[in-house]
Amino acid sequence: MNRRTFIQGLAGAATGKRVALTFDDVAWRGIPGRWQAGADAALRAALPGQAALFVTGMNVDNAQGASILRAWSKAGHILGNHTWDHVGYASASISPEQFQAGILRCDDLLRSYEGFQRLFRFPQLKEGQTVERRDAMRMWMHEHGYRNGYVTIDASDWYYDARLRQRLQREPEFDVTRFRRPYLDHILDRAQYYDSLARRAVGHGIPHTLLLHYNLINSLFLGDLVAELRQQDWRVIDAGEAFADPVFRREPAIAPAGESLVWALAKETGRFDGELHYPGEDDVYEKPLLDRLGL
Ligand SMILES: [Zn+2]
Repeated sequence: MNRRTFIQGLAGAATGKRVALTFDDVAWRGIPGRWQAGADAALRAALPGQAALFVTGMNVDNAQGASILRAWSKAGHILGNHTWDHVGYASASISPEQFQAGILRCDDLLRSYEGFQRLFRFPQLKEGQTVERRDAMRMWMHEHGYRNGYVTIDASDWYYDARLRQRLQREPEFDVTRFRRPYLDHILDRAQYYDSLARRAVGHGIPHTLLLHYNLINSLFLGDLVAELRQQDWRVIDAGEAFADPVFRREPAIAPAGESLVWALAKETGRFDGELHYPGEDDVYEKPLLDRLGL
């Protein structure tokens, strides 16, 4: 053990801050051409340990998608289910049965990969707007051996990524590193906030799962994010270690159901209504900042 690995081993020892990295959607087609070929290797190279990849079936039902899933699975990462078509459960026009059929279609595609685990992540973290729709899904998941692949640290990396890609469309030579600091600050801030909320709502620290996406901005700056998390005393842990914690078995009794698990557990206590806004995270909270920065 050299000094560097010794120090990294100590990270999180004092505060117990632990976080696993999770990536949603696998929308590889959205990564602009110049970066598309290298993005997958860049993401995987920046991962310090086991991550979880929550797969939208229709995005990977092709040769490139299969190659991505093979690479992540072979590297020991977890593949989870994120529906076939990413249609959200919040819409009353999709019945529980239709929603479940989409999960099973994605399950069919994923089940041949060694890394596949029956962890399901709801698109937009929306788990049912009513008690009836929430419980229909909870019961179905129990019956089908699925667990909720909860996010505990919610964030809007997807919006920073969307703004970056819009900018590149208008201005192909735009300096992408201008997004680096705002992106890092946003994720680090959200990590700190949800950790603080967990300690207040649950009464102790929990192993976190950070919501990120398989996109351009993470392929550019994930290595920097990992380094800065460690500087801020976070220990980056394996996704399997996080999901094994009993807190991920909780089913908060709230409706609408969803958001980050920490948000939902805080909501359930009834003690944080002055603090919690709905939705927990969204583009509307980030737009003024990025506008102000001219990004
Ligand atoms: Zn998603």
